[in-house]
Amino acid sequence: MEKVVIIGTGCAGLTAALYTARANLSPLVLTGTMPGGLLTTTSIVENFPGFPEGIDGYELMVRIQKQAERFGARVQFGTVEAVDLSKQPFALTVDDEKIEAQTIIIASGASHRHLGIESETSLDKKGVTYCATCDGALPMFRNQPLIVVGGGDSACEEATYLTRFASTVYLVHRRDSLRASKIMAERTLSNPKIKPIWDSIVTEILDTKKEKVTGVRLKNVKTGVENVVDGAGVFVAIGHVPNTQLFKGMIEMDEAGYIIPERGSETNVPGVFVAGDCSDRVYRQAVTAAGMGCAAAIDAERYLAKLNQ
Ligand code: NAP
Repeated sequence: MEKVVIIGTGCAGLTAALYTARANLSPLVLTGTMPGGLLTTTSIVENFPGFPEGIDGYELMVRIQKQAERFGARVQFGTVEAVDLSKQPFALTVDDEKIEAQTIIIASGASHRHLGIESETSLDKKGVTYCATCDGALPMFRNQPLIVVGGGDSACEEATYLTRFASTVYLVHRRDSLRASKIMAERTLSNPKIKPIWDSIVTEILDTKKEKVTGVRLKNVKTGVENVVDGAGVFVAIGHVPNTQLFKGMIEMDEAGYIIPERGSETNVPGVFVAGDCSDRVYRQAVTAAGMGCAAAIDAERYLAKLNQ
């Protein structure tokens, strides 16, 4: 039986792994479908303390994992398919394997939000993508106009990154000002290759008949006027949804699916703790996720000390 199972290997999960490993709890850390979490899809992380020149998101995650493994964390590739939290020990089904655990730290993160239009689904991977770092350098996007949707830090980061490859980057936002942090917004809007298109939503991604992206149909939400903007790729960067569906009905969450901790990292089920983006709709930073992972590890350690005394 495991003392600690950590679900997720983003900043929260791996920091929880580091702390529980150093507490000699030999945590089992399950990667889910995205080892390293969302940070592996960003380029340079400039606001994680300790890296004055910034650090590549993927490299940061590899380093935290190595640090946790050095103290005995066991990282296993696998996705949790089912959980039973009704009694101690808890039961998890991971790729058909049954695992028992005295404590669980949920650090399952969040996934990219979708626009929710039909053409987005049909043209997924045919020019529609959610990750500039992963796909921006593909030949199909080189020296072509590209379209980024969103107005937050992610959209700004994607747009700026894509200027390396694109002829022009159109930044389509549904309002007339960016939600992004001041520094990111200023950097984005002062880039001559980025052309903002304000007050606009994407009503259709073209062209499903040609089975590739040729542009987008936009609607100005203030005037109602529609127009078409040509582009070879659509990069959707409109936020995230928490990966908590598995725990619905067992763990208390808000209407958007974010897990609501009762005290510190404790959920409504004693022995189940939560950390990171799956319970944070406010800060959602790498460093806050890491801090939450640390808190969850300490809470789990204290719970185990009482349980096993
Ligand atoms: P976000 O801050 O929630 O921004 C999402 C953006 O998408 C908003 O501008 C929103 O518009 C727009 N949007 C949401 N749903 C939409 C829809 N259905 N159609 C069209 N537009 C839609 O998400 P994020 O940019 O992914 O950032 C998430 C968190 O990560 C933030 O805390 C951010 O600071 C952090 N982050 C930090 C960095 C960095 O510091 N390097 C990089 C990336 C992300 P409205 O503005 O109208 O709501």
